[in-house]
Amino acid sequence: MVYIEYDGIIVKGVGGAYVVLATDGKHYTCTPRGIFRNRNTTPLIGDYVAISVTDQVKELATLHTIKPRKNQLRRPPVANIDQAIITVSTAQPSFNAGLLDRFLVLVALEDIPVLVCVNKTDMESNVDEFATYANAGYPLVYTSAETSDGLQALREKMAGKINVFAGPSGVGKSSLINALMPNLGLATGELSAKLGRGKHTTRHSEIFPLGEKPADGYCVDTPGFTSLDVEIPKQELGSLFLEFREFSPLCRFSNCLHVKEKDCAVKDAVGQEISTQRYESYVKMVQGQSKF
Ligand code: GDP
Ligand code: ZN
Repeated sequence: MVYIEYDGIIVKGVGGAYVVLATDGKHYTCTPRGIFRNRNTTPLIGDYVAISVTDQVKELATLHTIKPRKNQLRRPPVANIDQAIITVSTAQPSFNAGLLDRFLVLVALEDIPVLVCVNKTDMESNVDEFATYANAGYPLVYTSAETSDGLQALREKMAGKINVFAGPSGVGKSSLINALMPNLGLATGELSAKLGRGKHTTRHSEIFPLGEKPADGYCVDTPGFTSLDVEIPKQELGSLFLEFREFSPLCRFSNCLHVKEKDCAVKDAVGQEISTQRYESYVKMVQGQSKF
C-alpha cells in the first residue's frame, strides 16, 4: 500500500487529533504518530507538517513530521506567527499609550513582527497621537469594524501571513476578526456576555483562511497576549523599543540602561528622534512601576 504524502498546516486541534489543511486544498483529520509523545512535542496550530494519507475518501491521515518553528505563543498556543496585530481604540476604551508600549514589548520579546491597528476611527477621528508610533518605525493601519473603513488596507497587510490579534479588552479585536471572516460568527463583547461566555472560558483556537488562496493569509480566531503579567529582564527592555536600537550602540556603556548613566545616546535623543512619552514608558518599565 502506498500512502500519499502532503505538506500542510495545522489549523485546528480536536481532542487528540489535528485538522491539517494540505497543499491539495483538503482538510485531513490527522492522528499524530507516537514519536511526538515520546519526544515531548505537542503539535500546535500553525505548525507546518508533513502527513501520510491513510484514507483519501474520509480524508484521514497520519501526522509524522513537524517542521522547525520560527516562534511560538503560549496563549493561545500557536506556532509560526508572522504578524501580531496589536489593536487599540481611539475611544471606549480611550487610548492608553503605556498599555500599547507594554504590548509592543511583549510581542518584540517573542520575535514576532507587529502591526498596530487603530480601531474605532468612526468614534474619534483625531488620530494625531498615533504619529509617535509611525515615527518610531511601527507600521500602522486605521480601521473601523463598525463602518468597515480601512478593512481593505488591513486585509492587504495580513495577506500571505499567519496573523494573530492582540491588545486590550474592548478595543474591537473580535469585531475585526468577524468583519474579516464573516462566516466565523465569533461572539463579541456584548454577545459573549449575553451567552454567559466570559473571557475565562477556554476554547480551542483555530486558524482561518482569510480568502480562497493561501496567499490571502490566515488569522487565528483567538486574540493573544491578553495577559500582561510577563516579567522582562531590565537589560532586554531597551532592545525591545524599536526606535532605541539605532542609538543604544552609541551609549558609552555597553550595558547602559538609559536611565542614570552618563553619555547615553538614547537619553540624548529623547525629545528629538525618541518621543518623551515613549521614553517615560520605558523608564517606568525598567523601574517596575508600570501599572496595567
Ligand atoms: P474585544 O474585547 O477587543 O474583542 O472587543 P469587541 O470586538 O468585543 O468589541 C467591544 C465593543 O466595541 C463591542 O460593543 C463592539 O460592537 C464595539 N466595537 C468594535 N469595533 C468598533 C468600531 O470600529 N466602532 C465602534 N463604534 N464600535 C466598535
Ligand atoms: Zn544609554
